This record gives sequence, C-alpha cells and structure tokens, in this order.
Amino acid sequence: MKQIAVLSGKGGTGKTTIAASFAILTKNTIVADCDVDAPDLHMLLHPEIIKTQKFKGAKLAVIDEEKCTKCGLCSEKCRFNAITEDIKVDSISCEGCGVCTIVCPVNAVTLTEQISGNAYISKTKHGFMAHAMLNPGGANSGKLVTLVRQNAKILAEKEDSDLIIIDGSPGIGCPVIASVTGVDAGLVVAEPTMSGIHDLKRALQLLTHFNVTPFVCVNMHDINRDNADKIASFCRENSIEAVGKIPFNPVVTEAMVNGKSIVEYAPESDVAKEITKMWKKILSGLKYEGG
Ligand code: SF4
Ligand code: SF4
Repeated sequence: MKQIAVLSGKGGTGKTTIAASFAILTKNTIVADCDVDAPDLHMLLHPEIIKTQKFKGAKLAVIDEEKCTKCGLCSEKCRFNAITEDIKVDSISCEGCGVCTIVCPVNAVTLTEQISGNAYISKTKHGFMAHAMLNPGGANSGKLVTLVRQNAKILAEKEDSDLIIIDGSPGIGCPVIASVTGVDAGLVVAEPTMSGIHDLKRALQLLTHFNVTPFVCVNMHDINRDNADKIASFCRENSIEAVGKIPFNPVVTEAMVNGKSIVEYAPESDVAKEITKMWKKILSGLKYEGG
C-alpha cells in the first residue's frame, strides 16, 4: 500500500485543491483529510458520513466541592495557572497533567476525559474518506490525525485499495508530524514568495527527517517567476523532484465557489492539465501502477 501526503507550510496554498484533484483522478483510492483543525476537503468531495466516532483527546481536572476544604494547594502547585484563587478549574488552561489530583490532601480532584472532536468515515462519489473535526480549542490534534490515518488504513484494507491520499495539516507542528510518519511520499505545495520558500525548506527538512520521498510543486508560479526559479534551483541542487508549476488562474476559485475540484470543474484548464501531469509523475516516481 502506498501513502502520499500533500503538505504546505501554511494554509491557503492550494494544497486541498490538489489533494482533491488527485483523489478524483485515481480509481479505488482512500482519502484522508488530516487537516483536523481546519478541514475543507469535504467542501470539494461532499462526503456522506456513515460513521462518527467521538474523540477523547484531553483530560480536565474536576473538583468535588463537597470534599474540597479550599486549602489552595492545587492552585499553588498547578504550573498552568488553571485553578483560580477561589478554586475553580479554568478548562481552557487545564492541561490534564494530574498534579492537582496528587497534591490534594482530601482526594477532591479527579481527571475526566473530554470530547475534543469527532472522527468520521464517509462515502464520496469518488471513494471512501476518513476525516475529522477538532472542537474549537480542542487538544491533541496530533492524536486525532493518527486516528484519521488509522481509519484510512482500515478502509483501504476493507475496500482492497492500495493507495491513500492524505491532505496534511499545514506547518510543521505535531499534526503534520502525525500526517507524514510512515508515508511513502510527500508533495510540498509552495508559493513563489520569500516566506513560501522558507516554509518549503522547513517542510522538506521534516520529510527528510522522517525518511519520506519529497516532491515539490509551485502553485501560481507565474505570480513571481524569479522566486519560482529559485525554488526550481533549490530542488535541482538538492536532488528533489520538482513535479509541477501550476499557473495562476481564477477558474480555481470559481471551481471552489461551486464546490468542485478543478479537475472536475474545468478539466481542460491549464491548471487541471498541470495537476494531472504532476500526479502521473508522482505515481511513476513511486512506481505505482494502479490509478
Ligand atoms: S490537571 Fe494539571 S493543569 Fe489541570 S488543573 Fe490540575 S494541575 Fe492544573
Ligand atoms: S487541594 Fe484539594 S482540598 Fe485543597 S483546594 Fe484543591 S481541591 Fe480543594
């Protein structure tokens, strides 16, 4: 089974448009939306949810007011300042570390598991999809990404699919690490800006660290050809395959407004043709013969 993650240094680089297009261009694939903080693949693939799992990502201290003697020890020892002077737990600040349960002399504090979000298994007209939504302020998005990836693997085995396409979280934090560990390849979508080049290098370092084959594409390369050339040179110098240069075209936004991926909405557009071409290059680079 091959797993391919589409990544970017920040949101809004066109990562989801590309991941959705790959999913539509490929037969019998499973899609995993691992951008659990701000998922938007569903807006292009329109999944019909068939299973929902509650995600318990965090623990919260709860104080039994009948037992509590208001000695203040828990408030004093909590290094996250999550217990107020009048001995109330601030649910946003509490990290669930459990120190208060240890120091309380009358066992008035317990830790309770909190629902931090939901994981979903869905059906789309292009195949099955694993995705999730973290509640606002919900903790442990990395663990939720891991759950989404486990669900995608189970689906792939059940549906006899040998390819998982992952729409990864942006950045290089914990959810991204959870998105790329164990994948075969990572496509980094870069913008031709100075910050885009910086983000690209960080994302590539992450892929190297996790021994993931990197591919690069530049989205809207024609908005700054000098920077696009710098990305191409950087890839050449570091033996990284630059698989595509996607032109700027307002039809991409039009497709999104209409809830469709670009390869469905405007298959003859220069953008759709470039995405199709780079997908073939990635699959061939991975020696994947399905699709
Ligand atoms: S569980 Fe940890 S973070 Fe939460 S209130 Fe207790 S000591 Fe503070
Ligand atoms: S340590 Fe226990 S008894 Fe003391 S204030 Fe905290 S909850 Fe109440």
